[in-house]
Amino acid sequence: MSPTRLDQQDVRDRCSHCGREFVVSRGSVYEGDAGLALYIAGLHACGGPPIAHVAIAIRPGYRNNLRPEAILLQMWATEDSVEMLVVDAAESPWSGEKYLGDLLNRDEALASPLLETAFRVAGQLARENTTVSGYLASASGAT
Ligand SMILES: [Zn+2]
Repeated sequence: MSPTRLDQQDVRDRCSHCGREFVVSRGSVYEGDAGLALYIAGLHACGGPPIAHVAIAIRPGYRNNLRPEAILLQMWATEDSVEMLVVDAAESPWSGEKYLGDLLNRDEALASPLLETAFRVAGQLARENTTVSGYLASASGAT
């Protein structure tokens, strides 16, 4: 298997709930020269413990998937690891992002053959995206 790599672009967004600015980090994931997935990570938890709201859209054509399917995750850091929770589309701030394709609900995602890829990409995101890793690291000391 070719190693995967990801690129990273950070933009600013404003929370519609609390009005605070926060960073959204997004990019593409490549396996060799081929595009594997898109990701978007919102780094804001509206005053709660820091949680990254992540969507990982596996691109069309990958493993014969005709439509992109997006798996929605929340990620947060504990003292020694990064936890991930698959959430329903309605719970994700990215549910209006049409370019992500079909947004899978939690039960669909857990049954999807793409889940393993999504977790692999999410793990790489947490380690290699400097903005995401910095955000999660800043949270890990909090109780
Ligand atoms: Zn907010």
